[in-house]
Amino acid sequence: MSRAAFVLAAAAMVGAAAAAQGPGGQGGGRGRGGVPVGAGGECPPGTTLVRVGQCQTPEWPAPSIVDYRPKSTLVVDEHRVPRAKFPVVDIHSHTGPTPATIDRLIGEMDALNIRVLNNLSGGYGAELKQKVDFSRGTKHADRFMVFANGLNGFRDVEPGYGRKAAAQLEADVKNGAIGFKIFKQTGMDTLKKDGTRLKINDPELSPIWETAARLNIPVIIHTGEPQEFFNQPDMHNERWLELALFGDRRQYLNKGVTFDLLNAERDDLFKTHPKTRFIAAHFGWHANNLGRAGRLLAEHPNVVIELAAILYDLGRQPRTAHDFFVKYQDRILFGKDTYAPSEFPYYWRVLETPDEYFDYYRDYHAFWNLYGMGLPDAVLQKVYYQNALKIAPGLPQTGWNR
Ligand SMILES: [Zn+2]
Repeated sequence: MSRAAFVLAAAAMVGAAAAAQGPGGQGGGRGRGGVPVGAGGECPPGTTLVRVGQCQTPEWPAPSIVDYRPKSTLVVDEHRVPRAKFPVVDIHSHTGPTPATIDRLIGEMDALNIRVLNNLSGGYGAELKQKVDFSRGTKHADRFMVFANGLNGFRDVEPGYGRKAAAQLEADVKNGAIGFKIFKQTGMDTLKKDGTRLKINDPELSPIWETAARLNIPVIIHTGEPQEFFNQPDMHNERWLELALFGDRRQYLNKGVTFDLLNAERDDLFKTHPKTRFIAAHFGWHANNLGRAGRLLAEHPNVVIELAAILYDLGRQPRTAHDFFVKYQDRILFGKDTYAPSEFPYYWRVLETPDEYFDYYRDYHAFWNLYGMGLPDAVLQKVYYQNALKIAPGLPQTGWNR
């Protein structure tokens, strides 16, 4: 520290200490309800920090976080990306074509450069076969793929379930499924026949994972929810608004589970089935802690991750995320979850450009703006489609201009 900087810093500390002592302190500014920060280092409710150690009440009634939408005045270069630079496999979709929607879908996908939409909500049995048969009967058979789901939604599991579910999966793959999807309820909420929670690493389910390995198909697993959904929605919870909006996300009320417990059971599943290829959906909900995501990948060579619904976490740490994507460029797949043509360009922009401080499309997800990672072309191609082709061999393997 330079001498001048040291003097300034020391003066600031003296000012803060004085302000914390109350009236007469050199921090001054007691007008309009100025108060020292409390014992916990926090301003009391209704006040905000105006100097180090000193809080103040606004003169006007404060808008709620629902209504406060400041517009950035920052002027910097912008690079809108309506169309992905390379063709894309959306490995995490829940949308498939119907006679009424297929032409519209193809038009939208072509405009965005999405070549394959992979529907994880394939169901099983007759429902799955109908979905596969429909797209195979159109001239867009290679644009829509389907993953199968668990027999009876994994409900009422009892001895013998695993064998039956594995046989169902084998039949579904014969009928055209190219992978298997585990929904978040499985492992978190779904009960066994005996009334206990079905843990995702329950040995009864092993025949399913072994069958997936033998059939050379991936298993995509959605475990848990974002970390903050398991914590009290107090004034420090960065997902407060989302929890206030959507009652079904309040996992802090789910007494049987915690974020760490669900992840531990998931990691045990990965470890005990090393021949099964798993895709951890939503970065395993570790996008806010890429060190943790890196350990997941380092410890489990049979696991890859996909980036659906975590863009707000990548976009707030563009340098760390860039380095993570370069380091793990063979282990990351593109996914989006909600199919919304207007939202995909935000993903292209974060992944492809060096843009700074641009808005995000959902206010309740993130109280911050996004930055672009500016990934190199070779990494983009792997993330957009090349990794998916290796993980899910049932995807169309030709026509990618490689
Ligand atoms: Zn999903």
